[in-house]
Amino acid sequence: MVLLAKKNINTIANKITIRGIIQGVGFRPFVYKIASKYSCTGWVRNTGSSVEILIEGTATNIKGFLTELTTKSPPAALIRDFVRAEVKPPGYTTFIIKESRNQKEPISISPDLALCPQCLKEFNDPANRRFKYPFINCTHCGPRFTIIQGIPYDRCKTTMSSFTMCPQCLEEYANPLDRRFHAQPNACQNCGPSLKLLDKYGQPCTENYCSLLLQGYIMAVKSLGGFHLVCDATNEKVVETLRERKNREAKPLAVMAKNLKILHKHCYVSPQEKNLLQSPQAPIVILKQKKATALPASLSPNLDTLGVMLPYTPLHHLLFDDNLELLVMTSGNRSGEPLIYNNHEAIQKLAGIADFFLLHNRPIYNRCDDSVIRVIRGTPQITRRARGFVPLPLSISPVPTDLLALGADLKNTFCLASSNKAFLSQHLGDLENYNTFLAYKKNLQHFQEYFQIKPTTLVHDLHPGYLTTQYANSLALPKIGVQHHQAHLSSCLAENNFTKEVLGLVCDGSGYGLDHHIWGFEFFSGSIGNFQRLAHLEYVPLLGGETTIQKSERMALIYLLTYCQKEGIKWVEKYLQLPPGQIALYEKLLKDSHNYVLTSSCGRLFDAVAALLGVCRTNKYEGQGPMELEALCQTDISKSYPFTISEDNTLKILSLAEMWPQIINDMERKKEPGYIAAKFHQTLVKMISKTFLILREETGLNTVALSGGTMQNMYLLHHLLETLREKGFIVLTHHKVPPNDGGISLGQAVTAGRLLSCV
Ligand code: ZN
Ligand code: ZN
Ligand code: FE
Repeated sequence: MVLLAKKNINTIANKITIRGIIQGVGFRPFVYKIASKYSCTGWVRNTGSSVEILIEGTATNIKGFLTELTTKSPPAALIRDFVRAEVKPPGYTTFIIKESRNQKEPISISPDLALCPQCLKEFNDPANRRFKYPFINCTHCGPRFTIIQGIPYDRCKTTMSSFTMCPQCLEEYANPLDRRFHAQPNACQNCGPSLKLLDKYGQPCTENYCSLLLQGYIMAVKSLGGFHLVCDATNEKVVETLRERKNREAKPLAVMAKNLKILHKHCYVSPQEKNLLQSPQAPIVILKQKKATALPASLSPNLDTLGVMLPYTPLHHLLFDDNLELLVMTSGNRSGEPLIYNNHEAIQKLAGIADFFLLHNRPIYNRCDDSVIRVIRGTPQITRRARGFVPLPLSISPVPTDLLALGADLKNTFCLASSNKAFLSQHLGDLENYNTFLAYKKNLQHFQEYFQIKPTTLVHDLHPGYLTTQYANSLALPKIGVQHHQAHLSSCLAENNFTKEVLGLVCDGSGYGLDHHIWGFEFFSGSIGNFQRLAHLEYVPLLGGETTIQKSERMALIYLLTYCQKEGIKWVEKYLQLPPGQIALYEKLLKDSHNYVLTSSCGRLFDAVAALLGVCRTNKYEGQGPMELEALCQTDISKSYPFTISEDNTLKILSLAEMWPQIINDMERKKEPGYIAAKFHQTLVKMISKTFLILREETGLNTVALSGGTMQNMYLLHHLLETLREKGFIVLTHHKVPPNDGGISLGQAVTAGRLLSCV
């Protein structure tokens, strides 16, 4: 490790501080290597939040060193901040990697990284000592966040601490010129974790797992951030068995393709989608399915898309053989429960679902689901932010005090904010499940420890019935409530680092409004922390609460009774085939406003149209009706239904009252559901852009931001972007955080930060 310095009177020295993703990605060995290459002396060290370098050498050598430092850093590293200052040369004769220094500012922890090409090559090389070893990794790839128990990131603070490295592994680990220098999860078959196959009774067995999958068995496989339930995706029968056993009737199942070539057979893959699939984050990418594909329809019933990923751990590569090309890889949990991540729980809870268990003894400390991304008009949109992205912080405008934003109850994430960083948790799921809520509290504790953030203010949704609100109320800290849709909009502005005033639209299922009604189709103007509601979709009665949200045909009934009066009943009888008693009851109950709440929900609107067209009368999973309606849209339709925009005091009210009889009219004329679905989408595009044009006239604002779960609708967003841009608007959308409730916590945090800064 000793490097001789040339005595040179032209020696200069630089002190460099680098921030970003530089821990656990091989950054220090990289610095060491280029320092050697350019005969420089000095040192490099981790401070927890940054890497510091003292570099000494001739001006020419330092120039070469700096160029490589900034342009050739390891693939998983990300330099966010680079500060360099000339200092007096201290006269070092060697270059060394110093011990880590623990500082009291938030640190960066790397997310888990997909198997890198170099490790894959070794994995496939019969001459390599790690040939087919399912836990091969290096500083460029492998587990990180999911195995980290504490900071700084050292092996003793990971779940690898119980494995003692063999001499060969230790040599790699200690050699700064080796790819595995300080690779904390470094291991081989002699010293590292190993696999174990159990039958459904928990008894060890020796069968070949590929042939078991090929025979049509369901296997629970311990992956990187938790368990997957795995079966042959081309085998219709086993896919249906999995659905039955998991009690998951219709929700699409994610699949893993052996490689890109196989994927091309079944899906359209754009260059950008290909890059995402092959990236170190290796998310699930939502792809358009080819019509001629022979895949079972039950993978994603009534949808034209498929959620696909490529093998991202060495273990995944072992699951495929010559005869297996495509595997279902769905989260290993019971419906509504959090992802299972330890062996014991898997055997207990997945009994009755899995026929076999493929386990290993490298414990997972932080459970982490697969991330989900789709590409819309060439831009990626994340809809589930977890593995590969978490716990990377997002840069935000500085908050004056450490904050904890608790998020929403569905698709929950929380957000810890300190200074100019926002640490968003991984997607945690729906908190109404008790075990998910326990997982939420546990994760909260982990994040506070990792990033050493002690929140002094809590931020929550305004909904008094939310578990997150109740949890906030149970804690003795100052609290700030943020309106649901203002949080959505703020999250969009925050991730775009946009601090000026905008016009905003939030379309989603439901959120508690400032007037105590259920909002969901809302226009605002203003900036983070200071929004004004300018327009919304006309309220309709939401009668029957949660049941109506699930049984969406009741929402169609409400819409028809509201907008089509006597004729409405006739059409309800004809198209919805609801029992006459129910129609009469709804008619009666709707006459008294004590029986219902009012809603402007966009989700309910989609539900109602989907139900009326017979596309989906009951949502078996959240968003089923809207998703199936979108999938149905014929592409070449530009016609639309009528709408009105009227003024009520200072608020504009968007009404689709005239659309309903015309939809019925189209149905009477036997127009195809795909035609009506597209015409409905086009109506929304026209109504939204018309509203923005009016609001631009009135406010002079030309930037619009789009948020809310409905913005996952690719057809709607695609056409909205096209129309709004044509009209000269600058449009901000989501890329880094989900437009759905998964982004709420970020919006809450930046809103509270802004409000506290103004005090
Ligand atoms: Zn690697
Ligand atoms: Zn070893
Ligand atoms: Fe929402």
